[in-house]
Amino acid sequence: MKIHEYQGRDLLASYNVPVPPGRVIESIDDAATTYKQVASEAGTSLAVVKAQVHAGGRGKAGFVKLVRSPQEAEDAARFMLSNKMVSVQTGPEGLEVTKLLIAAGVDIEHEYYLAITTDRATRRHTLIASAEGGVEIEKVAHENPDAIIKAPLHPLLGLQPYQAREVAFRLGFRGKQVSQAVKIMLNLSRLFLEKDCTIAEINPLIVTPATGADPDGQVLAIDAKFNFDDNATFRHKDIQALFDPTEENPAELKAQKFGLSYIALDGNIGCLVNGAGLAMATMDTIKLHGGEPANFLDVGGSATEEAVTEAFKIILADNAVKGIMVNIFGGIMQCDIIAQGIINAAQGYENADGSKGFKVPLVVRLEGTNVEAGRELLKNAASDLPTLQAATDLGDAAEKVVAAVG
Ligand code: GDP
Ligand code: MN
Repeated sequence: MKIHEYQGRDLLASYNVPVPPGRVIESIDDAATTYKQVASEAGTSLAVVKAQVHAGGRGKAGFVKLVRSPQEAEDAARFMLSNKMVSVQTGPEGLEVTKLLIAAGVDIEHEYYLAITTDRATRRHTLIASAEGGVEIEKVAHENPDAIIKAPLHPLLGLQPYQAREVAFRLGFRGKQVSQAVKIMLNLSRLFLEKDCTIAEINPLIVTPATGADPDGQVLAIDAKFNFDDNATFRHKDIQALFDPTEENPAELKAQKFGLSYIALDGNIGCLVNGAGLAMATMDTIKLHGGEPANFLDVGGSATEEAVTEAFKIILADNAVKGIMVNIFGGIMQCDIIAQGIINAAQGYENADGSKGFKVPLVVRLEGTNVEAGRELLKNAASDLPTLQAATDLGDAAEKVVAAVG
């Protein structure tokens, strides 16, 4: 589960990681007054207007803007709330922006990268840091991997103070910056473990220029990205409360409600399968025969007829779908339940022109528990399923559906 930057900033602040103050708006009309509030609270005319969406690359896309007056804040808000954001992380269709953060702006002496995530190679939570932080971090990791520092977390105790000090020195922090950076790293490690994060990222972590009061500057977090383990959110009501359904794919949310695992993809062959492994094998086999899956859909081990009906609705709501392949290996799942689900879905499905039934080719491969009863049901419902082709095995099914859409 992902959260917004403004929520991440609050979370960081609750773990004593210093973050400039800010407020969230949803309307252009609130931009000027909110700018004035933030500016007067922080005692600076510099503020930053930032699109709140579950995707990064905002800076480069023009959705992070520094502003110095109520008018500039309003102009930035107007731009961000009336244009879709297209960044390297959104795909060409872009994302609609409905919330903006207006935060106190800071002067930056240097930008660092700081994150904790799981390193699959070592199977450890790992602190990742770089003195070359900011909007080009992916490029740094790719072109100059030596500039990336890694420190594994102790599985139970988290990051140790000696590790944080070593990383701080290697990043080039000096004087009072060192203890500030160490504190931030240790707090981030505590946050990561206590809240069951899968990623906790501050990019950039910055140091402000020296002033009379702060001759070494201040170390601050000015961006926050968090991702949480979905299997652990049940024990974090506070994190659950941060869930924003408007940022999720509506079809995927609907599928979740019916206990279906659905992920939309770019192809034109809808897949309805029981079991995640079988669903992946099905997608591979479709590709092997030259086709492209339109989705991953696992109806699970014990789907009801209603869930199967819903699964068809979700698949067919995608206009790109030109054919459907059903691949069921009945273990706990009974083939006759699936067959009845297919029939119900076809009888109840209404096309845009008002006619009933599936128009797209449907290839069904059933095997396992109650398969004879399932096949019998489908045979008897032939008039409701004019586009149905039965397949003998997975390869046969893939071949038939690819031919049907081709
Ligand atoms: P992202 O591009 O989505 O990761 O958005 P960020 O919040 O990281 O902002 C992108 C960049 O904008 C940062 O790397 C900074 O260079 C710049 N930026 C953001 N906030 C401020 C600020 O308060 N002051 C200054 N001077 N630059 C900022
Ligand atoms: Mn960033």
